Amino acid sequence: MCGIVGYSGRRTAAKIILKGLSGLEYRGYDSAGVAICEDGAVNVYKTKGRLSALADMLEKSGMPKGSVGIGHTRWATHGEPSDRNSHPHRQGKVTLVHNGIIENYLQLREEAQANGAEFLSDTDTEAAAYVIDSLYDGDPIAAISAALPRLHGSYAFGIIFSDRTDAIYAVRRDSPLIAAKGVDECFIASDIPAVLSYTKDYYLMDTDEIAELKDGEITFYDMNGNDITEKKKLLTADFNLEAAEKGGYPHFMLKEIYEQPDTLRRLISMHTEKGAGAIFKNEIPDTSDIKRIFVVGCGSAMHAGLLGKYSIEHLCRIPVSVSIASEFRYDDPMVGEGDTVFIISQSGETADSLAALRLVKSKGAKVCAIVNVVGSSIAREADEVIYTRCGPEIAVATTKAFTAQVLIMYMLTARLAHDRKTMSDAFLDEYLSEMKKLPELVTAVISEPYVDLCKKFAVYNKPYEDYYIIGRGQDYATGCEGAMKIKEISYMHCETYAAGELKHGTISLITEGVPCMAIITDPDIAEKSVSNVKEVRARGGHVLLITSCVGEKSDICDEYIRLPETNKYLMPIVAIVPIQMYAYYTATNRGCDVDKPRNLAKSVTVE
Ligand code: GLU
Repeated sequence: MCGIVGYSGRRTAAKIILKGLSGLEYRGYDSAGVAICEDGAVNVYKTKGRLSALADMLEKSGMPKGSVGIGHTRWATHGEPSDRNSHPHRQGKVTLVHNGIIENYLQLREEAQANGAEFLSDTDTEAAAYVIDSLYDGDPIAAISAALPRLHGSYAFGIIFSDRTDAIYAVRRDSPLIAAKGVDECFIASDIPAVLSYTKDYYLMDTDEIAELKDGEITFYDMNGNDITEKKKLLTADFNLEAAEKGGYPHFMLKEIYEQPDTLRRLISMHTEKGAGAIFKNEIPDTSDIKRIFVVGCGSAMHAGLLGKYSIEHLCRIPVSVSIASEFRYDDPMVGEGDTVFIISQSGETADSLAALRLVKSKGAKVCAIVNVVGSSIAREADEVIYTRCGPEIAVATTKAFTAQVLIMYMLTARLAHDRKTMSDAFLDEYLSEMKKLPELVTAVISEPYVDLCKKFAVYNKPYEDYYIIGRGQDYATGCEGAMKIKEISYMHCETYAAGELKHGTISLITEGVPCMAIITDPDIAEKSVSNVKEVRARGGHVLLITSCVGEKSDICDEYIRLPETNKYLMPIVAIVPIQMYAYYTATNRGCDVDKPRNLAKSVTVE
């Protein structure tokens, strides 16, 4: 999940790499480091902690002058965050940075140690440096190609050979990496925002293709050492740097919350213009073979799947099972030909989701990816792709990508209900016309009165360490997403319970003043949920009610947010947004680093 940047050109590589890494720090911030080629030597500067610590170190050393180098920001998997485990790692003539996991590293280390090798770190990465070095005989492409079959697991590498300090080399498998081309300079990066200040032109790197960046040019080789540059397609990024930066907001998360009306509007206008029957016609031309649906994802993407299950099962009567990717892949899932699997992932690089995709494809199922990052691994390997198209999402806690994923589920519901004729034309017309109003409703719930309420209510919970959310049906799924937002950025322990389930155990945790949230958006079961809220209040719980259909009464709740109403099956998109803001203000009240919560990283490209 680390971030990699490499540079080969005429400018000061260290400065360019630092800037690039700052656009990738969301990928990990346990440590940072660079290797810079200076006067024929490869000098490594690295330190535990955030990028600013590396920047200080480089400033103090007078900023290395070389114009070729590689850099890394780490999210530790093997070996604690420390100076010596920071990347780059060096063995012999090879210095490299790595994103991914070398699964057989222990075996490789043992073999190497038997041959007298010494390791300076606890990382899996150093074993890869050793293997490449042991096969190096002056030909970088030959050494890398010979080493890769010995490395099991996932990797994106940026590599420098100490007797070839005019070039950097790059290769990837299952971890993201692009190669970008400017004028007389070129770059490698884990993600496009890292290089956007310099160029918009980039190449996607395919598995086990090796890139050589030298003298401002990029040459691609296959594993047999053949030059395949002519076959590569130069792409142009369709968003600018400003979109990848904060645009005046104190945090990316807040900016991204505020972008939701636009991201929703864009998707709705792209897909619903010609009515329910035409939704995703390009992506999924025929739905008649969809008998059973599986949705697989991690974290918020899985919650989007839960909301999709609710609407598809209710409105289309197609059975949907939703799974956590890391469980699904080892569960010997009963999926195969005739099944349709939706894999949801913002980055399109989530390691467990990618593995689930490959598993179900090998079993003959049809795979449709719902991803944000164009050209990502999951997008490329799926049979069909529906893009969420919400631009770069930088905050670790997802907001706009989540609501876009849910919206795609709701648009899919309309299409399937149309094709299956499970809902009347009148219902579908109303459903789509309400969907078109969602951007306005979301604008309403991010406007001042709501912001003020969220700020005010977030103050109450400050002395508490535990928080409970209850809801029924889709409100339960919305609550699961809400709890994740609260936990990940404010570090407050938060759990969501199906409202009727609380009394089967957890109600014992409700004591005087304990903060709780109740979400009630379904008028058909509102009364049942109100009874559960009363049960909580009878034990002293302090309840914030977020509802579109229950009036405020002092005997029901302590705090109240009234949501604008729409078709009940679309309500979760309206309901989650103030909860995102509530989580945001809960975190800022506690002085938390909202965009970079501890121990987390944005794109989870390891198992
Ligand atoms: N496995 C490497 C390490 O722990 C890279 C980690 C990653 O890509 O997240 O240093």
